[in-house]
Amino acid sequence: MSTRQVCLRCRILEIMETVDQYVIPAPSVPCLPVRNRRAGFPVHRIYCVGRNYAAHAIEMGHDPNRESPFFFLKNPDNLVTDGGDFPYPAKTEDVHHEVELVVAIGKGGRDIDSDEALDHVWGYAVGLDMTRRDLQAEMKKSGRPWEVSKAFEHSAPCSAVVPASEIGHPVEGRVELRVNGDVRQQGNLNQLIWKVPEIVSCLSGWFELRPGDLIMTGTPAGVGPVKRGDLVECSIDGVGELATRVV
Ligand code: MN
Repeated sequence: MSTRQVCLRCRILEIMETVDQYVIPAPSVPCLPVRNRRAGFPVHRIYCVGRNYAAHAIEMGHDPNRESPFFFLKNPDNLVTDGGDFPYPAKTEDVHHEVELVVAIGKGGRDIDSDEALDHVWGYAVGLDMTRRDLQAEMKKSGRPWEVSKAFEHSAPCSAVVPASEIGHPVEGRVELRVNGDVRQQGNLNQLIWKVPEIVSCLSGWFELRPGDLIMTGTPAGVGPVKRGDLVECSIDGVGELATRVV
């Protein structure tokens, strides 16, 4: 049995005898709830797509034309689940909300054909790609990596996963984000520049996808700052809802 399988068992089946195989306490496997089920969705990696709605590309000062998708990552343990709070992070004065459709991968693979890509998708969720925008601008300007702006603690609030076996594979549906009741972001899944099958196919050419991978598919226009005390509410028609309080 591989180390990975042992880890998963530790967490999910709570078989504690295996812990003595590690010299320090084993990190737990991050996990999302699954709507209406007791079993969870264990998370392997979190991939994110940049600039996947034309109106958002334009608001960020980029060409909205269909250039190849690009990807960055967050850490699996950056997830905030069950509507938990979002603690305002350090070293920034400009944290932005980005509401996104999240794809949950159930079957791994490499160089997946876009025709077969949906067979690899187990379900969907509503996620927030929280971003330290001021740090991202600095990193872009200096040509440095984005992690400090994207992959910080609590940077990935996410709803429960809903199985594709229940909701299908949504290709349209209103995407909305409200802050304290005011609509800030509004779009539709039919505005995605790169569709889910294309994203899965392209990403699997760069990385070997594994069961448990999440893909945040990009945000519509209207990104903007949050402050402590704000209630951020997101919804994607046909997929679900997510709310988090900035504390
Ligand atoms: Mn994003």
